[in-house]
Amino acid sequence: MTPEQFRRHAHELVDWMADYLRDVGDYPVVPDVQPGRIRASLPPGPPRDGEPFDRIAADFRELIVPGMTHWNHPGWFGYFPANHSPPSILAEMLTATLGAQCMSWQTSPAATELEQVMMEWLRGMLGLPAEFTGVIQDTASTATLVALLTARDRAGAEPGRLTVYASAEAHSSIPKGARLAGFAPEHLRLVPVDETFAMDSSALGALMASDVALGLVPACVVATVGTTSSTAVDPLAEIGAVCRRHGAWLHVDAAYAGAAAILPERRALFDGVELADSFVFNPHKWLLTNFDCSAYFVRDVPALLRTFSAAPAYLRTAHDPEVSNFRDWGIQLGRRFRALKLWFVIRSYGVEGLRAMLRRHIVLAEEFRSWVDAEPGFVVPAPSPFGLVCLRHEPPALAGDGAATDEWNRALLARVNASGQVFLTHTQLDGRYTIRMAIGQWATEREQVARAWERIRHSAG
Ligand SMILES: *Cc1c(COP(=O)(O)O)cnc(C)c1O
Repeated sequence: MTPEQFRRHAHELVDWMADYLRDVGDYPVVPDVQPGRIRASLPPGPPRDGEPFDRIAADFRELIVPGMTHWNHPGWFGYFPANHSPPSILAEMLTATLGAQCMSWQTSPAATELEQVMMEWLRGMLGLPAEFTGVIQDTASTATLVALLTARDRAGAEPGRLTVYASAEAHSSIPKGARLAGFAPEHLRLVPVDETFAMDSSALGALMASDVALGLVPACVVATVGTTSSTAVDPLAEIGAVCRRHGAWLHVDAAYAGAAAILPERRALFDGVELADSFVFNPHKWLLTNFDCSAYFVRDVPALLRTFSAAPAYLRTAHDPEVSNFRDWGIQLGRRFRALKLWFVIRSYGVEGLRAMLRRHIVLAEEFRSWVDAEPGFVVPAPSPFGLVCLRHEPPALAGDGAATDEWNRALLARVNASGQVFLTHTQLDGRYTIRMAIGQWATEREQVARAWERIRHSAG
């Protein structure tokens, strides 16, 4: 493809992209496809000779798009959002065009320095401690693994004696990360939660003290602000005090809810973060930045570098003493230029524009919750401080029969999603099947939230 052909096809594709962003609400949120059907529509092997681009683009529209789940549909209420935005998409186009490898300062000076500045902007926006230094990781799972590995090395005892703590509601990336980091599975303590599904910090203190009495060494506590099931908020200040007492690393997983720290009226939920050793949040979840972009902040940069730096002769450069080489700040060597989309997003919307989006979603969640609360037969089993509301329908006829109520809610959710206009997912809270309504897409308006509630209410009737 010559640059002139590229220009023509790119203009065509940008027209398709703009139409898609305008019309995404007209697609079914989740495609009606059976496993294997898309695969069966594709040739089993590659073409021998190159094909015209128009045919490839047509197949994209006809074979691929109808098989996609549309995360940026205004009726998307599943999981957590992975919202994006036009400025972020434009930055991704430029990132792809530059095709840069951002492993060290020398391989892309502007990418490294823009990343440093973006992490400083975010640190200030979230009110994180000034001693934190930021680096972009691909996902929160990776950032948490990075924290666990660093904490393991800093603990300075043999791995067989180290212990890790997280609440019973912590994300699956924490047990997975602890296993990958070489902690013994029986030394991962899942701390009980209170009635709001937040970590019980006195239970944490008791567990840690008894571990120490057994000769074990507490290496790391992972606290969560905004758990995945219900957005519970672990008490960071109390947990931080326990960590200080025993010299354990405190990592804060705020993958989804971290964005809300830019709201002065939500910042108190993060009080105690000044006691943390590391903090992760995903601009790719609720801050209009395309997946993937996970902001990892760490206090002890030398400890991070001791775990991750590797500088064979072929990677060393004359600038190494005076620059940051982000290949030494995580697992991967090669790195994408992810800071560009953050720069485009933060400048396009401004801090106030980003706050306005978060507030809009929080107000919609509060309104949705008020409808559920007012409806006989429905329960809201957890607080909803951000954009997520958990709910269950408990018909009186099934009272006392947990299994039947679970099955009823499973069927209810399937009926709601069958419309194709809205999409919600579920979790388990207190061992019970629970429907989750996560509001966070940039195009979502009250209309879609009201429609989702109508469908739920109607399907329960
Ligand atoms: C989404 C989520 C994660 C995992 O995020 P990835 O970036 O997909 O790895 C971890 N923790 C919490 C609390 C989450 O909500």
